[in-house]
Amino acid sequence: MQKILNYINGEWVKPAVNEYLDVVNPATGGVIAKTPLGTKADVDSAAKAASEALPAWRRTPVNDRVQYLFKLRDLMRSNHDEIAKLITDEAGKTFEESKAEMVRAFENIEVACGMPHMMKGEFVEDIAPGIDELMIRQPVGVCATIAPFNFPGMIPFWYLPYAVAAGNTYIVKPSEKVPTTMQFVFKLIEQVGFPKGVVNLVNGAKETVDGILEHPAIRAVTFVGSTNVAKYIYATAAAHGKRVQAQGGAKNPVIVLPDADMDMATKIIADSAFGCAGQRCLAVSFAVTVAEARNTFTELICDAAASRVVGYGLDSGVQMGPVINADSKARVESLIGLGVKEGATAPVDGRGTSVKGYESGHFVRPTILADVPRESEIARTEIFGPVLSLMHVNTIDEAIELVNSGQYGNQASLFTSSGSAARKFKYEAEAGNVGINIGVAAPMAFFPFSGWKDSFFGDMHGQGMDAVEFFTQKKVVVERWPKEWTRKF
Ligand code: NAD
Repeated sequence: MQKILNYINGEWVKPAVNEYLDVVNPATGGVIAKTPLGTKADVDSAAKAASEALPAWRRTPVNDRVQYLFKLRDLMRSNHDEIAKLITDEAGKTFEESKAEMVRAFENIEVACGMPHMMKGEFVEDIAPGIDELMIRQPVGVCATIAPFNFPGMIPFWYLPYAVAAGNTYIVKPSEKVPTTMQFVFKLIEQVGFPKGVVNLVNGAKETVDGILEHPAIRAVTFVGSTNVAKYIYATAAAHGKRVQAQGGAKNPVIVLPDADMDMATKIIADSAFGCAGQRCLAVSFAVTVAEARNTFTELICDAAASRVVGYGLDSGVQMGPVINADSKARVESLIGLGVKEGATAPVDGRGTSVKGYESGHFVRPTILADVPRESEIARTEIFGPVLSLMHVNTIDEAIELVNSGQYGNQASLFTSSGSAARKFKYEAEAGNVGINIGVAAPMAFFPFSGWKDSFFGDMHGQGMDAVEFFTQKKVVVERWPKEWTRKF
């Protein structure tokens, strides 16, 4: 049985704890590893190593720093299948979904390799006679990421490559539900040969997180997870004087107009709602049909939901895996029950699913909740499972008003063939990531991964130039060199 270790100061170390959690393959129900419930002492060791590594790493020229990242990208690509298999086994998604997740991680490393250009400063001559002014970007110091369970391989790479390329040192804390992917990725990080202490791994849950939030040497924290925890992270890290960006939960709407290509819309919306078993922060979770879009779309989406092949993500032909664990299955099923109690119907009901050969797996089949009442709790609650709610209105204005009335603002999408409807939606939708005829509007690595309202706390986002801003601090220098001080040669 694999026991999860920490990677601190270039060494694999056993955390000083006796309590371990089971890491369970959600498709088979089998225990695949034991992960430590780490302590603040582990964080302290990692922060000490990262602090000691900082001065030399900062002095390493940026074009030398990115050479380590080029090497890491190559190693990760040559182990793509191996990493994807680990993701499927601990997080439940299909092998293809796991491979796609890692492509976005590679992309982020590639973009961060442009750091010699991206962290350039600014210079203005003669802001007053004989006086120049310049702005330099310098690293912030020791930084850390606290990650969720649903993208075990990708999410640390929204941040780590930019931070390290900019001259910071780093600590990653994966979700205790899915620690094996980072365990493997850190073996590759070890092979890359970063100087000791530049990149560190600590495992654990709340106590480890609190250790990061409170540690005086850690200057910046990024978090991805549920909204309540995001609020806690944002407030606590800020109270300890840190930079923080905290990405929270979501309840993503899609509007379907009558002029949409219904076959295309159905396929894309089904992939968004049921891909990764609905456990994506950009998964569409409620569809608002406008006017006569209702009947066609309802019929097509019910067929798409009912025909999805559910099973173990490493078996061929499987289109959707399980949800993360037994608690999550129970929660998703009880929310479907709540929706029905509140007046919705369930024309496709995924409760009580059992998959032959995987009877201990935590499967919920795709579910459609139709005629969801606007004021119901199910219309507002993040389900984070393969459940698509349907609502209906008569005009695009009503639809946008409904979309904007929600608590979250991670993503909003529109399906239409009208340019003016698309423009109106782009202009008015209150969401950080907007899709037009797109089901998962995931920004490429060279754009910020946005998020508004209760889906994001902070100002700078992950990825792209926002990551450069977040992981550097600006220094402004005003300088005067009088002519009479010039040595005569
Ligand atoms: P979670 O909030 O339960 O856990 C995230 C991290 O926080 C984990 O590392 C965990 O150890 C830690 N944590 C959990 N409870 C804590 C507490 N009380 N105090 C301190 N730390 C704590 O989230 P999850 O279930 O792993 O992930 C699913 C959630 O993440 C969903 O809500 C989803 O929408 C969200 N998510 C958002 C984005 C985004 O980009 N906005 C991306 C992926 C996932």
